[in-house]
Amino acid sequence: MAEKKEENNTEEVFHAEVVNPDEFLNPEEIVGSVNFNAEEILKPEEIEVVPEEIEVVEAERLSFPYDEERMNWLKLLLDSYQRMDTGVDLGIRLEAEKRGKKLACHKGCSSCCITHGEIPVYPLELVGITWYVTEKTGGEKRKKIRESLEKHQPGDPCPFLLDHECSIHPMRPLACRQFNVFNKVCEEGEDAYYTRPEDVLRPLKTYIQDAFNFTLPFYGVTDEEQRLIILETGKHHKMAQPMQNMNWKTLIEKMDAWDLSKN
Ligand code: SF4
Ligand code: SF4
Repeated sequence: MAEKKEENNTEEVFHAEVVNPDEFLNPEEIVGSVNFNAEEILKPEEIEVVPEEIEVVEAERLSFPYDEERMNWLKLLLDSYQRMDTGVDLGIRLEAEKRGKKLACHKGCSSCCITHGEIPVYPLELVGITWYVTEKTGGEKRKKIRESLEKHQPGDPCPFLLDHECSIHPMRPLACRQFNVFNKVCEEGEDAYYTRPEDVLRPLKTYIQDAFNFTLPFYGVTDEEQRLIILETGKHHKMAQPMQNMNWKTLIEKMDAWDLSKN
C-alpha cells in the first residue's frame, strides 16, 4: 500500500523517545544487548538463483518529502522497506516460476498477526512506527489505535491489527513485510512457520541484507567493512525485540502530546 500524499503541515522536529538511538551507536554494543533471537525468523535464503527471464521490478518507494527532509532516519527506513518489498515480490514470483507455488496471503487475511508470538521489531522501525502513528494518523483510525494501545498488555498480539487490517501498513516492520505463505491460507491459530515451513517465503539474501544495510547508519555503523561483518554475522538481529512485548504506553503519551501541541 503506497502513501504518496504529503500530509505534514508542521515545522516541529520529531524526536523519537520510544527508543534511544544513542544506545546503539557503538556497534560493539549491539552484540548481546537483547535476549531475543530474531536471526532465525529473519534468516535469508542462502542459495539465490534468479533466472534471467525473471525481471526485477522495483517496489514503489513510499515518499514523505517534507519529513524526509527534516529527519534523515526516515530516508534510511523507506529505502530499506523498498528494498525488502522488491525482494519479497521477486521471491514470490520465483516460487511461482520454479515450484508452481501460489501466494495464499491476501487483503483482510490477518490471523498470522494474532498467532505470531514474537514479531521482531528493530529500533529504527520503532521510531518509524512512532512517527507514523503520532504524526500521520488521524480521525477514527487514530482513536482506535490509541484504544488498542491502552488495552495492550505485554504478550498480547500486535496492537496495530484493527478490523482485520494492519493500521500501520506502510510502516509495518521488515518481519511482517517478509512473512508470506503459499498454497493455502493459514488456519486460525496456525503458525505456518512451524506447521509447514516449506510454504513460507524465504527472502532472497541479497535483498534482506541490503534492507538491513540501509538501516545501519542509524545505529552509527557507516564503515563499509564493519557493515559487512555485522550483516554476515547477524549481529544486528540482537537489537530486535518482540513487538508484542513493547511498552506501547510511551507511544500513547507521544500521541497525546502531539494532539495537545495542535490545539
Ligand atoms: S501468513 Fe497466513 S494468515 Fe497471514 S496473510 Fe498469509 S495466509 Fe493469511
Ligand atoms: S504490524 Fe501490522 S502486519 Fe505486523 S503484526 Fe502488526 S498488524 Fe500485523
